[in-house]
Amino acid sequence: MSSIQAIRGTRDILPDEVGKWQRIEAIARDLLSRAAYQEIRTPIFEQTALFERGIGEATDVVGKEMYSFKDRGDRPLTLRPEGTAGVVRSFIEHGLQAQGGVQRLWYLGPMFRYERPQAGRQRQFHQLGVEVLGSADFRADAETIALATDILQSLGLKDLRIELNSIGNGDDRQNYREALVNYLTPFKAELDADSQDRLTRNPLRILDSKDAGTQKILDNAPSILNYLGADSQQRFDRLQQLLSDLRISCNLNDRLVRGLDYYTHTVFEIQSDDLGSQATVCAGGRYDGLVAELGGSDTPGIGWAMGLERLVILLQQLQTVKSASVDFYIVSKGEKAEAQALVVAQTLRRSGFTTELDLSGSAFGKQFKRADRSGAAACLILGDAEAESKTVQLKWLKTGEQTAIAQSSLHPMTEDLRSQISHLRDDG
Ligand code: ATP
Ligand code: MG
Repeated sequence: MSSIQAIRGTRDILPDEVGKWQRIEAIARDLLSRAAYQEIRTPIFEQTALFERGIGEATDVVGKEMYSFKDRGDRPLTLRPEGTAGVVRSFIEHGLQAQGGVQRLWYLGPMFRYERPQAGRQRQFHQLGVEVLGSADFRADAETIALATDILQSLGLKDLRIELNSIGNGDDRQNYREALVNYLTPFKAELDADSQDRLTRNPLRILDSKDAGTQKILDNAPSILNYLGADSQQRFDRLQQLLSDLRISCNLNDRLVRGLDYYTHTVFEIQSDDLGSQATVCAGGRYDGLVAELGGSDTPGIGWAMGLERLVILLQQLQTVKSASVDFYIVSKGEKAEAQALVVAQTLRRSGFTTELDLSGSAFGKQFKRADRSGAAACLILGDAEAESKTVQLKWLKTGEQTAIAQSSLHPMTEDLRSQISHLRDDG
């Protein structure tokens, strides 16, 4: 019978890779909680209408990429393609704005988009994201960008570029949209089909086009940065100054846009040259109109999302992540000894040691080989003699030094054992 395989565009994260994921998660959790961001977990599926309104029907995500289906009660549902819409729905539904002040939230989890799978692009992928709701202050923009860069830096990632733009407020964008349409209309026949369609529906999105011909026409297109009103310009200047005070350098990129009306002011992306065409690891921006669009009271917001698969690819290239080290590897042979070995293992684990127990029942020689390969600091040996005398042989694998210890003294010796192990590790 043929075996069943994982769905195209999904991947198993196997034990040899999971350490990288855990490291990203631990660093993010730590840095975000130090900045007083709180985790929020929302459902993986929502009503389809949430994403149609929250992401916009004219976007590729809603138009082409959603996993939408009807459940047995005929309700239109969608596997979430991103995190913001669900977080904002939850914020409104639970009246989090009524708690006053600014809500700083983060989330992490799988997202689903029907895309052509390739390196760094999957149909089930994972995003880490933050959303700051209730502050229109430019410092909130700077804070979220700083946190994204801190997370990436703590992971040891270098050579990342931050692309930054402002798309101003609604009026600025209305003026720019007109200018862009006026510029592009004479070239309409030369634009790619999607862009022709967008010329009336959503002209700003044309700036995103990957088509070389369209990009060439865009070379001489007007720049949004020349259409910012005085307030928007001042806000953008302040943000750039603050980022420079934070020693975060950004490239101004006036082609970075969001097509929808509820996006305002700041847009940014963090990119790497080491990812081929899937270069963006983090994308974010301000969405002052989104909460109202989804039925809440007028509440400004800003957020970003990072693609974790792409971070893992970058970490793989660094190869700095060591797998968790084992303190003790326990080998045993003989019925009594094997039973005592598990008791010893649990004692050590309760004392805080990482302890691997060989369950193979194979000859001591084979078990010793596995002990060496495990990278453990020490091997504990239990044979018939040790079982009789309720002792263990403790062998330090680096020096070969071996001593007999009563099983009952392992727990009292915790501090002593811990310091010996850390000495060994410090010596490399
Ligand atoms: P792209 O242009 O690469 O399709 P996007 O604009 O669709 O990106 P966003 O919706 O802004 O991406 O999502 C934020 C981040 O999530 C991206 O920068 C990327 O790191 C990651 N991401 C998006 N789609 C995928 C996917 N299908 N597979 C893996 N990661 C993804
Ligand atoms: Mg995409």
